[in-house]
Amino acid sequence: MPELPEVETIRRDLEPVLMNQTIATVFILDNERASPDLTTQLPGQTITAVRRRGKLLIMDLSSGGHLIIHLKMTGQLIYLTNQSTPVAGGHSHGNQDDWSERFTRVIITFKNSSLLRFNDLRRFGYLKLVDQKTLSDYLEKTFGIEPLTPNFTLENFLPLFRGRRTNLKAFLLNQKLIAGLGNIYVDEVCFTAGVLPTKIVTTITLVQQQRLFSAINTVITQAVKNRGTTFKDFVDGTGEAGYNYNYLAVFGHTNQPCQTCATPIKKIRLGGRGTHYCPSCQK
Ligand SMILES: [Zn+2]
Repeated sequence: MPELPEVETIRRDLEPVLMNQTIATVFILDNERASPDLTTQLPGQTITAVRRRGKLLIMDLSSGGHLIIHLKMTGQLIYLTNQSTPVAGGHSHGNQDDWSERFTRVIITFKNSSLLRFNDLRRFGYLKLVDQKTLSDYLEKTFGIEPLTPNFTLENFLPLFRGRRTNLKAFLLNQKLIAGLGNIYVDEVCFTAGVLPTKIVTTITLVQQQRLFSAINTVITQAVKNRGTTFKDFVDGTGEAGYNYNYLAVFGHTNQPCQTCATPIKKIRLGGRGTHYCPSCQK
């Protein structure tokens, strides 16, 4: 699933092409991916902002409403015009089916004849129209503090550890505490901080908590700069692979020597998720 850096990459690519566009028509090809009210409510509205919270894309509309888009496992957004190359991002379906219309679930056309397609192979993603109050209630109950924003401070981070009896991996994956981290970046954060992902949260020292805070900033900043990570199934908003893969230290490096100490990187299952760590560097 695309994580914060991948969704942010898509957002940054789509923002300049979608800003101030007025919606002409909406075609829903799969009623479970989008509610029918989109076809009557969206036409005539102008997109005034393209935002992100955690892994969720939010388009602000001239009516004051919001179109929210979650790509989930296999969602793609493809923006097409007659003049230029497509702007597209999300899960890659593997070469020849990439951006194929076979998996198109929703099509939004704009007054200037361009269009935005939402493709989803496995059909977990969705588009939804919400009002201001519904959106703010939803964001509040779904997402915790957001890396790379002024809200992401040590003062807000440290209290999250209190009374948590889960392991560190589950803690960092919990979107209600910290928004946007997924399987790849949690493993990288734990390595960068030198803390075992299996460690029970209540046993993590203050020094380790501080190291985890700065590791999140380092890892996420680098991944956004590198336009996200592609290892097999993500391509960015221009349809290109992100190049953060080359910068990963443990994820996907099972049995390869640790870049710091040369101990083979270990992979285990933790809470049902493949989890990578250095048994020597991480305590
Ligand atoms: Zn090591």
